[in-house]
Amino acid sequence: MPRKSNRIYKSPIVDIHFHPMLGNEPILGERPHGVSDYLREVRNLNVRHVGAIVIAPRSDLNETRKMNDTLLKLCNESKGRFFPVCSVHPLDGSAALQEIDRIARLGARALKLHPNTQNFDVSNPLVEQVVREASKNGLPVLFDAWSPFDADQPGKFVKLAMQVPEAKLILAHAHGSRFPDLLVYEILARYPWWRRNVWIDLSATASLFSGGPFAVQLAWVLRKVGIDRLLFGSDYPLDNPRGSVQAVIKLGFKKEELAKIFHENATKLLRL
Ligand SMILES: [Zn+2]
Repeated sequence: MPRKSNRIYKSPIVDIHFHPMLGNEPILGERPHGVSDYLREVRNLNVRHVGAIVIAPRSDLNETRKMNDTLLKLCNESKGRFFPVCSVHPLDGSAALQEIDRIARLGARALKLHPNTQNFDVSNPLVEQVVREASKNGLPVLFDAWSPFDADQPGKFVKLAMQVPEAKLILAHAHGSRFPDLLVYEILARYPWWRRNVWIDLSATASLFSGGPFAVQLAWVLRKVGIDRLLFGSDYPLDNPRGSVQAVIKLGFKKEELAKIFHENATKLLRL
């Protein structure tokens, strides 16, 4: 039974997906953005840690470093409330690898890559190279994983996870309207060699389907992937944190499942 959706969720939350809009990202609608706006939005929620994300441009290492440094500073000053999800552009080749080593030394917790915004193909060997370097540095890689432009993208992530078994991949948005493709992870889990090194960030997609006719299917598919592989994200300012929390609750997860989705899984994966 879905729970009552208007009660505030009081248990701890880790929001792994927040865009503080530090670079030259486009303004999204009329909504206010930025750190203080986000903090105002979550003031009634028990948000313990927040993954703050940047997205690196291509062929502009100065801007990339500047963006990552600004993010690292913001997170340092937040005394652990925000954690840095830095970025490189995979098509920058060896310069991207050097930047990964640098941000890892400076305390990055994860790496963000965005195939749509950064305009690259997940099957490009340079992407694998970047994922290897991030993994060598102990950084999970948070991908935007909903492409309306590349129908084969879900399979490309599977190949990537197989080619770099030591990598920890986080797929943001659960493939959106292609969420049934996630069932491949239930099949893979039957093979002894599969490392279960893929996590699913529910941002945007939980809100999109919750309360609608596909909600039951989405929850069923997510349980097949495994509750221990699900992560909460708000994708603020694209979505609002309180609405995103309610959307996940409304999918009908049990209390123990919600504790894993909202807090325990992220704490373990990102060493928070
Ligand atoms: Zn996002």
